[in-house]
Amino acid sequence: MSRTYLKKAEKTSTSDASSVTEIVQNILNEIEAGGEDAATRFAEKFDRYTGNLVVTRDEIDAASSQLSQKLKDDIRFAHDNVRKFAEAQKKTLGDVEVEIVPGLVAGQKTIPCQAAGCYVPGGRYSHVASAIMTVTTAKVAGCDHIAVCSPPRPDVGVNPAILYTADLCGADAILAMGGVQGVASMACGLFGLPSADILVGPGNQFVAEAKRILFGRVGIDMFAGPTDSLILADATADAEIVAADLVGQAEHGYNSPVWLVTDNADLANAVSLAVPRLISTLPDLNRENAEAAWRDYAEVILCGNREEMAATADEYAPEHLSVQADDLDWWLDRLQCYGSLFLGEQTTVAFGDKASGTNHVLPTSGAARYTGGLSVHKFMKIVTWQRATADGARPVAEATARISRLEGMEGHARTADIRLHKYFPGEVFD
Ligand code: NAD
Repeated sequence: MSRTYLKKAEKTSTSDASSVTEIVQNILNEIEAGGEDAATRFAEKFDRYTGNLVVTRDEIDAASSQLSQKLKDDIRFAHDNVRKFAEAQKKTLGDVEVEIVPGLVAGQKTIPCQAAGCYVPGGRYSHVASAIMTVTTAKVAGCDHIAVCSPPRPDVGVNPAILYTADLCGADAILAMGGVQGVASMACGLFGLPSADILVGPGNQFVAEAKRILFGRVGIDMFAGPTDSLILADATADAEIVAADLVGQAEHGYNSPVWLVTDNADLANAVSLAVPRLISTLPDLNRENAEAAWRDYAEVILCGNREEMAATADEYAPEHLSVQADDLDWWLDRLQCYGSLFLGEQTTVAFGDKASGTNHVLPTSGAARYTGGLSVHKFMKIVTWQRATADGARPVAEATARISRLEGMEGHARTADIRLHKYFPGEVFD
């Protein structure tokens, strides 16, 4: 492959995983032992918050009255789109019933998890959209109880827009609590919540690590690292739009990689010039994030042709993949590893992040090689059942007895034998 790095990343998205693990494990241990009191102490320590931890109906109503009608309409629009997409997804998961051998029927049912815990990040930015993505999807899946936790601002509480959104989308309870203590409270069923069966939603490295450690005891959507994005662009792309899209995703965090893959050197150069200019016009916090992400983690890769571009994208397996190139059908057909794909200049990653309907909780750090993002399916258990007549059981019982004995599992074999002798008395089975 004739791949040239016009800009190579100085760093990769790894944190000091062992120290994060130790910090998180210690917090989890203390909460396990000390319950609500311990969780409350960590809320005070990390979020400097001493208000109500369980958000009340009055607080939700007050939050709603603080928002403009226009913002509420926008949140409703985004919620409608995400719900519509999730409902369509749900229809792709059907029950199954098949006669395997005459007289033996096997089936599949999809059953929603009962209690979902949704983490809505709120440290650096106020991720209203994460509330839409997680709560709406759990609701459409049919979870009985949906809890939300989100970090409060010191002395203020959870952002009113997050409260309004979580309530609109169907949250049954909201905790003003972030980080490990929020995740642990949902997993352990503190503050009146049922213990969560599944924990979902993005968050920083402490949140991700808490979910990873708790996995097994509860289900999780995925282990999420910093957000990443890749743009595939050819000579037909608009350099200014490509640059704006890279900058938009780089503002997520100082370690959020953005990659440009192109077969056109002129475009690569134009984009590389435009990005720093666009970053310099961002507000302070966003500019600092984007500057660091572009300096340390970004790459600009020149390929020989579009097949090499596609192969590079599959190798990186980005969370977000945008194609700003000719012949979009070819790309849709060819590309295999991405969390969510944005085809053409008329759509962009931010649309999916906020309002177009597809979910924004997506696999990061190359996990798109083996999984997609949050969907209704993550909240649904695909379980199986079977039932048989005596005649249907006969060939299965005979095979089961022989396979069990080969494996040395006499007890298993006898569960088959006892049935054969009951249903077919007097017959000899070997
Ligand atoms: P956050 O809500 O994830 O974390 C805030 C919490 O971190 C605090 O409540 C505190 O309890 C805890 N914390 C902070 N410092 C700590 C420490 N030293 N020890 C223990 N706990 C500590 O908010 P954030 O930090 O702004 O991070 C949000 C993350 O979510 C970002 O990484 C962002 O990229 C990600 N995100 C991803 C997506 C996606 O779909 N991929 C969407 C939105 C946000």
